[in-house]
Amino acid sequence: MIGSIVEMGGHCAPDIGKVYCECGSIVDLDRSFINLKRKLGKPIECPTCRNNRISHDIDALDRHFFGDEDEE
Ligand SMILES: [Zn+2]
Repeated sequence: MIGSIVEMGGHCAPDIGKVYCECGSIVDLDRSFINLKRKLGKPIECPTCRNNRISHDIDALDRHFFGDEDEE
């Protein structure tokens, strides 16, 4: 299941959980971060997906402010 925790803890990093991202990556994330995301109902994603999403958001903002609409 997307965003589900694959494995909690481990021998050396008890505060780290492994989470399955929608792109298929399994990422190590801080357990408190995972809990916070779940509490907020936010998707849990790997750094690649987060960067993609952020750059996509920036593109959307650019279009909104500087884009296709003529001012006159
Ligand atoms: Zn991902």
